[in-house]
Amino acid sequence: MSYDKIEVPDEGERIRVVDEETDELDVPGTPIIPILYGDGIGQDVAPAAKEILTAAARATGRDVAWMRIYAGESAREKYDENLPGETIEAIREHRVAIKGPLTTPVGVGYRSLNVALRQTLDTYANVRPTYHLEGVPSPVSNPEQMDMISFRENTEDVYAGIEWEAGTDEVEQVREFVEDEMGFDETIHDGAVGIGVKPISEHATKRLVRKAIDYALEHDRDSVTLIHKGNIMKFTEGAFSEWGYEVAEEEYGDEVITENTLWEERDGEQPDDAVVVNDRIADNMLQQVLTRTEQYDVMALPNLNGDYLSDACGAQIGGLGIAPGANFGDALCLAEPVHGSAPKYAGQDKVNPTAMMLSGAIMFEYMGWTDAAELVRDACEATISDKRVTYDLHRQIEGGEKLATSEYAAAVAENIEELA
Ligand code: NAP
Repeated sequence: MSYDKIEVPDEGERIRVVDEETDELDVPGTPIIPILYGDGIGQDVAPAAKEILTAAARATGRDVAWMRIYAGESAREKYDENLPGETIEAIREHRVAIKGPLTTPVGVGYRSLNVALRQTLDTYANVRPTYHLEGVPSPVSNPEQMDMISFRENTEDVYAGIEWEAGTDEVEQVREFVEDEMGFDETIHDGAVGIGVKPISEHATKRLVRKAIDYALEHDRDSVTLIHKGNIMKFTEGAFSEWGYEVAEEEYGDEVITENTLWEERDGEQPDDAVVVNDRIADNMLQQVLTRTEQYDVMALPNLNGDYLSDACGAQIGGLGIAPGANFGDALCLAEPVHGSAPKYAGQDKVNPTAMMLSGAIMFEYMGWTDAAELVRDACEATISDKRVTYDLHRQIEGGEKLATSEYAAAVAENIEELA
């Protein structure tokens, strides 16, 4: 396929899918990987991440042929639109890609480009591992206890974008329907009101929970926790939990056991060879991640809970400069840091690129490049342990050396050479 404005590198080959059923990939020695720098600090963190990922690939006997793609401000300059069709196509065709943050204006203008990307590509699981790197300052006493990974549903819930603005004809039509036809006549307050709809489907819930359970089984994790607010929102979040248990009970045989069965049949004793599926109410869970950190492992959550909880977990291991993520669909991975475009720091060569580097490590792991992924993680950890850090960590580390984004990347590259 040729593109209008995307330059395809001369070297490198595409990653292909061997088996659509199992999502198995055929990854060449030098894959073409699309990279979207993004807005704001994307211009700082993306080149730094690219440098480190290339170094780790080369140090493990491979290479990456990077292919720049565009969205947000870079796309407005090149295409005069926010999200060009060929950006979507390039990600779809190459199966694995990485992006920096994209700015979303609040209240006005276009809806989030990130949400649009996730919905168009149907990358239905937003995956955020939260583990502590030695030396990273944390607000909790034992940050090393945190080793969780959240699977956040990415395509529905209140993020589906079905909402109407106060004062419009549409919102009044919805109010009328809800009050007169559905019988909720004393529920919505009089006067101006905005109304949104929260869809949670069996299809989206089950495919997300499958991804979480598959991950737990493949990575020898002990449990998968379904996190919901089903005590209040019974038919949406409650259904999320019920459908999640259905997947656990009906599709995995002895490999998966529910917490109820654990107590009824095994007196609470955790089996060595099975993943336990349990559920927790979301507000309680926000306490549990602080007070019983070690008990939790893999989490599966609807979209909004996932957003809140993974940021809260991220704070415990050092904050946004460190927190990586990736969006997964069927045989599709779009890695991205958790943080946004922090416009006030854009272009200052100042912010922490670790989150995007570690997002690249998730991408490498998905490609089967586990050694390269480990090298990226170990090199970041070694650099931070040496107290060679960007401003965000420097302000919390006594006696540290404050580095610019590019200097920090050079220090991580040195450690890659040393550790390889
Ligand atoms: P943000 O861009 O994540 O920045 C919030 C604060 O987090 C920064 O001021 C900074 O804190 C810290 N921070 C973020 N990234 C950092 C890094 N790499 N290194 C060090 N510190 C970092 O959040 P926001 O200001 O709420 O959002 C800005 C824009 O990004 C919005 O348009 C939002 O919609 C968008 N956004 C995009 C994505 C995405 O593309 N996936 C995700 C979230 C938000 P200090 O100033 O305290 O040092």
